Amino acid sequence: MRLSTPRWVSEGTALDVAVQVLINGPISRADIARRLHLSAGTLTRLTQPLLETGLLVEVGELVSGQVGRPSRLLDVVPTSRHFIGIKLTGDHALGVITDLRANVVRSERADLDGREPPAVIATVARLITTLAASAPAITAVGVGIGGLVGSGGTVISAPFLGWPDVDLAAALEAETGLPVLVANDVTAFTEYERWFGGGRNLDRFAVITVGAGVGYGLVAGGEVVESEDSGLGLVGHWLLDPFGPLCAEGHRGCAQTVLASAGVSAALSGALGREIGYDEALTLAEHGEPSARSVVDGAGRGLGQLVAAVANLTMPQAVILGGEGVRLASVAGPAIQAGIAEHRNPRATPIELVTTSGDDSEWCRGAAVLALVAHVLGPEEKS
Ligand SMILES: [Zn+2]
Repeated sequence: MRLSTPRWVSEGTALDVAVQVLINGPISRADIARRLHLSAGTLTRLTQPLLETGLLVEVGELVSGQVGRPSRLLDVVPTSRHFIGIKLTGDHALGVITDLRANVVRSERADLDGREPPAVIATVARLITTLAASAPAITAVGVGIGGLVGSGGTVISAPFLGWPDVDLAAALEAETGLPVLVANDVTAFTEYERWFGGGRNLDRFAVITVGAGVGYGLVAGGEVVESEDSGLGLVGHWLLDPFGPLCAEGHRGCAQTVLASAGVSAALSGALGREIGYDEALTLAEHGEPSARSVVDGAGRGLGQLVAAVANLTMPQAVILGGEGVRLASVAGPAIQAGIAEHRNPRATPIELVTTSGDDSEWCRGAAVLALVAHVLGPEEKS
């Protein structure tokens, strides 16, 4: 399925209007004009085609309190379009249907039947088909994966799946008949934060995710910063503890070993002499178990050091902490602040730390937002 190209997509400023309404609606024309520095006449010209295609609608009325006619507010109809967002990990795929504002309408999970590409593709295609059957129409599908993804949706490397070079987007399009976009999961997560999350209306912010891996995303000038190395997880190997354990790539005490769930789990399992999972480690720390407290505070201090490094180097307006392991931020709050204090000038502006819910669906919403951006707002849309 391909969408026809709306007439307005070639006009960047019409896109700006659509984005303002999508993010901030319902919103008055005067407010949009002020935010985008447009004249009333230009705004009317740009808005008309958006109303004709049905992407924007007029709702309610705003009476300014001054003499004059009331102006109607602009908004989108969130349920006018639906997207599927998938997070693919080493052992399962989680999928959600979202509306135009990335609100989750439905979610489904499918366990992987092995990691061979044909089996994984079949499982994800079935998940997409099951979800699609429950929504009126799916505009596009986004898939986020922990790894390096080429521009055409080919997974170049995915450590959690042990994949080299799998043309995932094309395979899923062939199986489902839907347009599919595949991207690095942290890039997708960062896009979600930029559009609808803690980075909404911010010009410059950083994202750090903790969980199975340690991810890093950066938005500057209102755009997600990307390079051909996005997806290699470079910041996950930032040195935090020169006496720490070795990671799989041979670094001593890098962020992966100090912060990722397997590192925390291994450190506490070693200390207590039995197998302890990441969530159990956090819970034991909350209850004051001394070894757990020490390991979890060590991870928290490491996270604080990483936050300080990111803030010192990229000068963000906020640092957003996310990922399925982000409960660390609430369990080890004082340790994080101590880690920040060790590596940041006390005269520096306090870092605005935003912690997300840590719900797995946040990854899926990110993938859905990428599909939304590419297929509703993107200039590269093909007919
Ligand atoms: Zn490393």
